[in-house]
Amino acid sequence: MPSRSDYISESTRRLVEKRANSHCEYCLIHEEDTYVGCEIDHIISIKHSGKNDVTNLAFSCLSCNRFKGTDIGSLTEKGKLTRFYNPRTDNWLEHFQIVGNMILGITDIGEVTVKILRINDEERLEEREYLQEMGLFPK
Ligand SMILES: [Zn+2]
Repeated sequence: MPSRSDYISESTRRLVEKRANSHCEYCLIHEEDTYVGCEIDHIISIKHSGKNDVTNLAFSCLSCNRFKGTDIGSLTEKGKLTRFYNPRTDNWLEHFQIVGNMILGITDIGEVTVKILRINDEERLEEREYLQEMGLFPK
């Protein structure tokens, strides 16, 4: 029986989670600190010819994954078409910086990723601040 093109096996799921140490690879929240857990994200969506294998998969919290949807990039404030951060090929620290309870994009890639994934939405800032106070999120 043919499987769906976006089907991810349980073993692949576990591998992706382990590789990410159970943290969202975009906003860094630990799965245990989320209300609804994390899921597997296709970094380049199937719609845009992304592959359904581990080189194109990331561990993502529900918020990041929902807001990202099938998008693969956006426009910067200056109007430059820019791809999103790719957890497989990019270094998080080169694109983002934690300032207080905010995650700032310090490159164009960081900027559009923070914007579209709504990484600094009010309730996420409050949640991050709480986790920082509990020592569960880096400052
Ligand atoms: Zn996230």
